[in-house]
Amino acid sequence: MTSGARVRRTALAVGTALLLPLGVAQAAPAGDTTGARGIGDPYYPDYGNGGYDVDHYGIHITYKPKTDHLAGRTKITAHATQDLTRFDLDFVLPVSSVKVNGERATYTQGKHELVVTPRQALATGEEMTVDVAYAGKPSTVRSDGVRPWIRTDDGAAAVGEPEIAAWWYPANDHPRDKATYDVSVTVAKSLEVLGNGVLVSHDARNARRTWHWREAKPMAAYLAFFVAGQFDIERSRVDGLPVITAVASHGGREGRYAARDLRRTPSVLRFEAQQYGAYPFDAMGGVAPAADFGFALENQTRPVYTRGFWSTGSNIYVVVHENAHQWYGDSVSVHSWRDIWLNEGFASFTEWLWSEKHGEGTAKQLFRQYWRAYGRGNDMWKVKIGNPGAHNEFHYAVYDRGAMTLQALRTRIGNADFMAVMRDWAAQHQYGNGSIPEYIALAESVSGEDLGSFFDAWLYSDRRPAPTEANGFPPGFRSRVAATERSAVPASWSKIQHTHAVLARVEGR
Ligand SMILES: [Zn+2]
Repeated sequence: MTSGARVRRTALAVGTALLLPLGVAQAAPAGDTTGARGIGDPYYPDYGNGGYDVDHYGIHITYKPKTDHLAGRTKITAHATQDLTRFDLDFVLPVSSVKVNGERATYTQGKHELVVTPRQALATGEEMTVDVAYAGKPSTVRSDGVRPWIRTDDGAAAVGEPEIAAWWYPANDHPRDKATYDVSVTVAKSLEVLGNGVLVSHDARNARRTWHWREAKPMAAYLAFFVAGQFDIERSRVDGLPVITAVASHGGREGRYAARDLRRTPSVLRFEAQQYGAYPFDAMGGVAPAADFGFALENQTRPVYTRGFWSTGSNIYVVVHENAHQWYGDSVSVHSWRDIWLNEGFASFTEWLWSEKHGEGTAKQLFRQYWRAYGRGNDMWKVKIGNPGAHNEFHYAVYDRGAMTLQALRTRIGNADFMAVMRDWAAQHQYGNGSIPEYIALAESVSGEDLGSFFDAWLYSDRRPAPTEANGFPPGFRSRVAATERSAVPASWSKIQHTHAVLARVEGR
């Protein structure tokens, strides 16, 4: 994700994490056949659910933008991971029926949770299908203080992090439970619908058209999306994969810049594959709707961008950032939301690599520039980016101090070992999850060095790291900024700043 929200969330920063209960139960106590209401995330005890694991979502939506009316039917294929007499789904729209294995189930709806009691209890390991019918106006529903549904000039965008899934389909909404997806959305014939993965069909019937998208690789629930509206769609094939980019029709000057930069997505991905290993998915692209929602999101195979990223012209850095997430965030997802540095620090650092390889300033120069720009008293140094606190995942520190951390690691262990760590991380956790302690263990194993105090200084301290070689600063690093240095700013600096700090008019959290 790239967002202006970070700046606004600063005040929530330090301290909140410690007050939250850690280690929420995920395994049921012996004899308990109730699926837990949360998967065990220390920041968000209600997120995800216990007792089952989803294999596939088959989602059918009919959507009318004018009234924001969404009617849906979702068929979930899952298997029980414990004996189950009752289980939860994360969902906020009004439900009209639930069937489990073809039989009507009883259910109740509370805050964020749909609690299902099947007629027949399920045994550990048993396959189950859960069929949920529902309808509502997603833009009107607020839950846990958020209302993430986005209405655009001519449609809607089901795009958000970490919340969005529960506003359009019932889910086990946590990155730890990945699944494959078939998403069909029916809209008026005058509209287009974009989604993840490959376009299976887009058949018209009477005045409507149904767009069927398929994501065949495991995907976290929040990365599933659809956007409906009037789009100019471009389709091609690159390296054997389908490329679909879409920019809002009548997008004006911003739309023209967006279209031009989104066309470069395949070459951005090729650059990133050279750094991190083969691209992990079956399709690529990007979507720029007619809306100002204040962020971009790394939706699997096809990121979605607010148009404001192109308000001052071309912006390839946001495309680099969101596509880097295809490795770090989408293929390798966080184990818990407190691991968010593994997403945002890594995607931000990839912008530095892009700058370095394209003659706009080296990562070493950018590291120096951040040091100059963010003095000792800056908020960036107060946020422990390895555990930033609930609702503080998108603080700019996680991005910018996060990228500095990786460049410092590169200096500390050398470029060859560093790139090996990055590639091994993507390969070892492909289509799965990873935590920061696991990443630290990998970096120590590849480099053969004890990096405990290094990572303490960069990830777990609320102070600026001392500029020592042990902390990954180059030999002879001058802490003080000389007057002669002030004019030597890397060419990419203002572009990365624009991408990272932009949009003050942000989604209302
Ligand atoms: Zn991001």
